Amino acid sequence: MIVAGGWSGRRYAVLGLARSGIATVNALLAGGANVTAWDSDPARRNAVSGASLADPLEIDLAGFDGIIVSPGVPLNSHPIAARAAAAGVPILGDIELFAQARADLPPHRIVGITGTNGKSTTTALIHHILQTAGVPTLMGGNIGLPILEQQPLVAGGVYVLELSSYQIDLTTALHCDVAVLLNITPDHLDRYAGFDAYAASKARLFAMQSPGHAAIIGIGDTPSALIARQVAQSGRSADLTKIAPGVCMDQSRWPSLQGPHNAQNALAAIAACEALGIGNAAIDAGLASFAGLPHRMQRVGEVNGVAFIDDSKATNPESVAPALAAFPRVHWILGGKPKGDDLDACRPGFGHVVRAYTIGEAGPRFAEVLAADLPVEEAGTLDAAVRAAAARAKPGEVVLLSPACASFDQFSDYAERGRAFARAVEDLR
Ligand code: ADP
Repeated sequence: MIVAGGWSGRRYAVLGLARSGIATVNALLAGGANVTAWDSDPARRNAVSGASLADPLEIDLAGFDGIIVSPGVPLNSHPIAARAAAAGVPILGDIELFAQARADLPPHRIVGITGTNGKSTTTALIHHILQTAGVPTLMGGNIGLPILEQQPLVAGGVYVLELSSYQIDLTTALHCDVAVLLNITPDHLDRYAGFDAYAASKARLFAMQSPGHAAIIGIGDTPSALIARQVAQSGRSADLTKIAPGVCMDQSRWPSLQGPHNAQNALAAIAACEALGIGNAAIDAGLASFAGLPHRMQRVGEVNGVAFIDDSKATNPESVAPALAAFPRVHWILGGKPKGDDLDACRPGFGHVVRAYTIGEAGPRFAEVLAADLPVEEAGTLDAAVRAAAARAKPGEVVLLSPACASFDQFSDYAERGRAFARAVEDLR
């Protein structure tokens, strides 16, 4: 467990008791803090031991040193924000607690990775290259591994943190030795006052750094390019590596890093590892042996010469675009809980789509949007879409689940949606 000496005798409330919330409670208790924990779900509350249980909305917050909220708590609408502000108590996240614990850890470095799309892939890739180079390393943060529950690295280790904008919002002291921003496109706008506020959240990752520390920024979109310019204008041009879009490179030796989006991810990972002093041989070997992550353009089966590709992690139109571009003849399954009304970011790939099959809450709207451009049918459920697509697809074509939507209307998360797709493919045999 990772613990800060400074927590001893302090008083914290922890709101949201999923995996990172429980890890936070346990780390704070191990550090000698007094902890009050809460989740609206009684089953989650039962998983806590050693902390008192009380809803921070119902108790007097005076005397608390901080309220640790899960990144899933929407601070723009949740009443805890106003209550904490009225009591003068800071709201923070587990990444801020990790930043506080750094002084007690053996000498180490941190890589922080953010962006709308590609974070997990780039995080896992950097971690894999470091492992290949024999550097002690751990992944944490948004990738689903709470950082505080892990064993501290020995001296010389590198913590590789995937950071959503919510996690950046909840830290003020995370000083990354290497900070990476991949891209910024509209997403999560229900949680921000607007697109500018979402972009500003990502910019803070660089504002928390001091000069002399690497800043690696993809400049394929205007907000990211503006952040790169701000970093340079702040006197840090020597720290800055810009990743230009569409750079032609030979990806033939990297089986799990195909497509232009993965060229961007690979270039960012190479720059990060170079900034950490990793040699070219280990970087090359790591890129070649990287296995990729599940539910990102993952081939889950082949039936009658038709390949079935699970890209369930593509939860916004921008992340679908590379998948459509990657295959010449696609039967495209899309839909779910929509994040917006249009599919404009996917339009460059429409020429590759033989037919679209819509599912979920977004199904009727997306069918209407697509009807002008391509053959489309409303399949309703994922199972029905897989059966319909399999019946029409010809050998050499692919059936692609790349939904451009969140999954929560029909599934617990994108991974369950991906597994349901693989089962539906299995059932075709
Ligand atoms: P994140 O953790 O940011 O959601 P992932 O690595 O899990 O990113 O990838 C999510 C989805 O985005 C996948 O469908 C993938 O094909 C697509 N994607 C990955 N990298 C990029 C990128 N650099 N630009 C656009 N889309 C990407």
